Amino acid sequence: MPAVTADPTTLPHLAAPAGAPRTLRSVTTAPEGFEGEGFPVRRAFAGVSLADLDPFIHMDQMGPIVWPPMQAKGTDWHPHRGFETVTYIVDGTFLHQDSHGGGGVISDGATQWMTAGSGILHIETPPEELVRRGGLFHGIQLWVNLPSRSKMLSPAYQNLEASDVTLLASADDGAIIRVIAGEIDGNKGPGSTHTPITLAHVTVSPGARVVLPWHREFNALAYGLEGVGAVGAELAGFGQGRLALFGEGDTIVLQAAEDSTLEVLLLGGEPIREPVAAQGPFVMNTREELLTAFEDFRAGRMGSVPAGGLRPFRG
Ligand code: MN
Repeated sequence: MPAVTADPTTLPHLAAPAGAPRTLRSVTTAPEGFEGEGFPVRRAFAGVSLADLDPFIHMDQMGPIVWPPMQAKGTDWHPHRGFETVTYIVDGTFLHQDSHGGGGVISDGATQWMTAGSGILHIETPPEELVRRGGLFHGIQLWVNLPSRSKMLSPAYQNLEASDVTLLASADDGAIIRVIAGEIDGNKGPGSTHTPITLAHVTVSPGARVVLPWHREFNALAYGLEGVGAVGAELAGFGQGRLALFGEGDTIVLQAAEDSTLEVLLLGGEPIREPVAAQGPFVMNTREELLTAFEDFRAGRMGSVPAGGLRPFRG
């Protein structure tokens, strides 16, 4: 149950979109893995080529998990260069801090959109209270690539609060759409992006179907956060932990099963179409730029942990 919800009858409504619904190229199932200090994730993009994901690189679903007391985990300090990390917390809380002066709380429907650019160190960790008491945690971390002209920009971040998100309803009130970045049907989300991208979280009520307009020149990916349903013109089976890669067309169809609320992260953008050299925490264009990134990190040229900086709470 996402924190940002609303009565759909009170929201602006999507017009019924025209054009061809996109059919599916693949539906893959995200394998489970561990990230950071050992929190369980689903690797949403596993098995899909970078060319099909472009402009996205990597995505982890964190939870949903109800942490027992003293088990909640995050990441310790680590670097990034050459892309953007987007942390969307559906439920629960992460604290974050970076070596560029950024920091704060990401909680219940908020998004932190961090441009690593030329290099930054950051930490994302559950607050002491969540560690001590345990509790629900559910989030997404998405890596958005930057074109070569923007890879060495100064680091920046956008703190997008839950209340900043643009809320829409489908024509029959069966779905709520939260536009985080980009736009859907002219309704712009708060996030600013370096290349054209749309990122939205859609909640489809049991038995409902929504048809969303989607830019023809964007790729289109739907990831099942929770629930069961069907996607695409062919209404292929879909649900939690599955990634749908759509082919060409004008609209995206999402449908919830009769007995399930379907939570979907919908994302796409204009492909950057440049070579990708990615290793560990860096995403560059060439092998040489990757080696430079590792050297620059080791030499402290991506910044350092601030004095008195945030540390993981381990009791
Ligand atoms: Mn990170």
